[in-house]
Amino acid sequence: MDQQQYQGQGKARAQRSVERMCIGCRAQRDGHNLLRFVCSPQGVVILDASGHAPGRGVYVCCDGICLRKALQPTKMALTLKRAVLVPDFDTVCQEVRRLLDKRLRACLGLGQKADAIVSGYALLKKAFAQARVLHLILAEDIAAARAEEYRFWCIQRAVPYVTLFTAVELGHIIGKSSRSAVGLTVPRFLELLRATLISLERLETAYCRA
Ligand SMILES: [Zn+2]
Repeated sequence: MDQQQYQGQGKARAQRSVERMCIGCRAQRDGHNLLRFVCSPQGVVILDASGHAPGRGVYVCCDGICLRKALQPTKMALTLKRAVLVPDFDTVCQEVRRLLDKRLRACLGLGQKADAIVSGYALLKKAFAQARVLHLILAEDIAAARAEEYRFWCIQRAVPYVTLFTAVELGHIIGKSSRSAVGLTVPRFLELLRATLISLERLETAYCRA
């Protein structure tokens, strides 16, 4: 997804926030925070990654427990009032994981363009000293001693951190060379990042327990 598309969606999102019901737990939530599935005229149910595919949509929380309930063929058939072919849970989880991964990358890429990201040891050290870092992302392959130093700064300043992507991937996402850590400094991007991280965590937790 390019920046313009993403911003366009963000704008559309802000403009119309519609409550939808998750067919797994029956809770009403902002539709934009739910996964959407659509049913083809042939009765094949697919995950609608764009959220705008034509056809009757059903909504499910981005949560392994709700997904497992929703993807029961009888549940889906009752909801859609027709015979349906439902994708299996593992396949959907993989698709959702890819979707969330893409969202994380988009969030960091946009953050970099919006000057909401600090990277590189010296700049991060300065940003931590100025209490500007709101969330830190550590690369999976960061050197142990450096990781320990960053974690110490995080603990000192009560800054949450998460381990994501390799250093090469992190650098690539923000259009730079390899980066072992990047810090977010703007609340708007932090919210976007957190929402995606929470979805990812809920998906993984339920997935592992299954
Ligand atoms: Zn739910």
